[in-house]
Amino acid sequence: MYFIYFVIAFAGIVGSAFLLKILQHFVNVKKVARELSEQKITRMPFKGSAESFSLMPLIDFYSVKDELKTEPGVSYFVNVDGYRILMDTGLNSSKSHPSPLLSNMQLLEVDPGSFDSIFISHGHLDHVGGFKEQNKRQFSLSQGKTEPGAVPVYAVEEILPSKWNPGPELHLVKEPMLITDSIASIGPYPRCLFLMGKTLEHSLAINLKGKGIVLVIGCGHQTIEAIIKRTRELFDEKIYAIIGGLHFPVKEGRIMAGPLNMQNIAGSERLPWNGINENDVMNSIEAIKEVDPQIISLSAHDSSDWSIDQFKKAFGEKFTDLRVGSEIIL
Ligand SMILES: [Zn+2]
Ligand SMILES: [Zn+2]
Repeated sequence: MYFIYFVIAFAGIVGSAFLLKILQHFVNVKKVARELSEQKITRMPFKGSAESFSLMPLIDFYSVKDELKTEPGVSYFVNVDGYRILMDTGLNSSKSHPSPLLSNMQLLEVDPGSFDSIFISHGHLDHVGGFKEQNKRQFSLSQGKTEPGAVPVYAVEEILPSKWNPGPELHLVKEPMLITDSIASIGPYPRCLFLMGKTLEHSLAINLKGKGIVLVIGCGHQTIEAIIKRTRELFDEKIYAIIGGLHFPVKEGRIMAGPLNMQNIAGSERLPWNGINENDVMNSIEAIKEVDPQIISLSAHDSSDWSIDQFKKAFGEKFTDLRVGSEIIL
C-alpha cells in the first residue's frame, strides 16, 4: 500500500518538475527572441579578399582512412592565405591523451603550435573537447599538456583555455567583427534549446577573391536561414560556399541513449517529442538554394545519413563530402 503512495508521489514530483522545465523554456524562448530583436546589426564590409582557402577536417563523424579517428564532434583546420585557424577542439568522449584530435593532427602533420588563432563556435561538448570542458566553460585540445601558444581565442562566451592548454588568450566576440581583412565572425546569435538552454553560436565568414563568401559553421544551432540572413545584413558579397554542421539529426542521431536521439532532443528549440524533422531539412535546403552557393559540405557529426542524402540529391555536384583527412580547397 505504502509503495503505491510512494509511486504516486514520485510521479507527481517528476511530472511537476517537467512542467516547470517546459514553462521556464517558453519564458526563455521569449527572452531570447527579445534579445535578438534588440541586436543592432550594421554593415561591416571586408577590408580585403583572400587568394586561397583550405579546410582540413581534423575531427568529424567520417574519415577517409581507418587510421584517422572519428567522433561526433568538430575540429577544422582553416587556412586562409597562410593564416591558420583551429576551429573547435572535438569531443574526446574517452577523455584520452593523446585525444583523437591530437592523434589525427599527428597523422595529418598539423602542428598544434602552428595556429595563428583559435575559433570556438560555441560551448557544447562536441566542440570544446568534452563534457567536463562544457560544464566548466573551458576548451581542451587533449587531456594532457598541449601547447598551441599564446594565440587569440575568438569565442562568443567566456570559454577559457583549460589547464592542459593554458597559453591561448580569450578575445570575447560581442558583435560581428573582422579577425583579419578577409576573415570575420558573423557575431553571436542566441538560440534557446530545450535541454541545453540559451546557446550562443558564431560562424566564420571568409571573403574569397572573385568567388564570394565561404561560411564555416560549427553546429548551426542558429539555423542556416538565420546565418544567411545575418551574412546578408553584414556583407555585399554573395555566399559562395557553406561548410560545416547544420544540425539535422533527423530519423537517427549520432549520440543515442537507447531509443532516445539525444542530438535531436538537446539541439532543438521545440519540445522533445516535436524536435527537428524532415520538413526542417527540406525548408533549409530551399533557403540555401535561394542563395545559390557553388559548394555545400555538410558535417555528419550532427546530421544523419538521411539528411546528408537529401542534400546530395538537392545539390548534386555542388555537394562535397566532409571527412577527416580530406582537405577542401577552394
Ligand atoms: Zn556540434
Ligand atoms: Zn552544439
